[in-house]
Amino acid sequence: MISLIQGDITKQQVDAIVNAANSSLLGGGGVDGAIHRAGGPAILEECRAIRAKQGGCDTGEAVITTAGRLPAKYVIHTVGPVWNGGHNGEPNLLANCYRNSLQLAVANGVTTIAFPNISTGIYRFPKPEAADIAITTVQQFMANDNDLQQVIFVCFDDENYGLYKERLGGERQR
Ligand code: ADP
Repeated sequence: MISLIQGDITKQQVDAIVNAANSSLLGGGGVDGAIHRAGGPAILEECRAIRAKQGGCDTGEAVITTAGRLPAKYVIHTVGPVWNGGHNGEPNLLANCYRNSLQLAVANGVTTIAFPNISTGIYRFPKPEAADIAITTVQQFMANDNDLQQVIFVCFDDENYGLYKERLGGERQR
């Protein structure tokens, strides 16, 4: 099932929440800052360990850590593309973020997962196109994988919430 809510992803009681991280994995602004603030230092500690081992995280890829003090069990950190006009593979890289996060989730026994609107903040990906890619990629994944029970799109700003609402008209909303 795909659900839509407007709110703060750090409050979600799901197996995993996804973070729109940057390739350093060392934290940043936006949702990344909110997750590290609310989850406490355990998340950054694991991010540093991953960075020491594999040198951060490439665009479109994903890594998993504890969720520290958050109600979720895990944080899946994925690095969205910075929008540079759309001719640098941005759409494909954004789809990779969703697909790789879902794959990593299933590999870790996650059945419920919440996504923020990756790349639509500081990274300036146009919101309508990002919503199309996010929804299509998640729907395709769920059509081929029965292990996931629920994927929640957590929209923070009104514009994204409106765009997702239009596109997910028939889906359950909470
Ligand atoms: P990026 O660098 O990938 O663009 P941002 O964190 O700047 O990442 O923005 C991604 C999205 O996260 C934006 O749509 C922003 O409105 C949203 N956002 C910011 N804070 C939160 C939060 N606490 N919960 C959910 N979404 C959030």
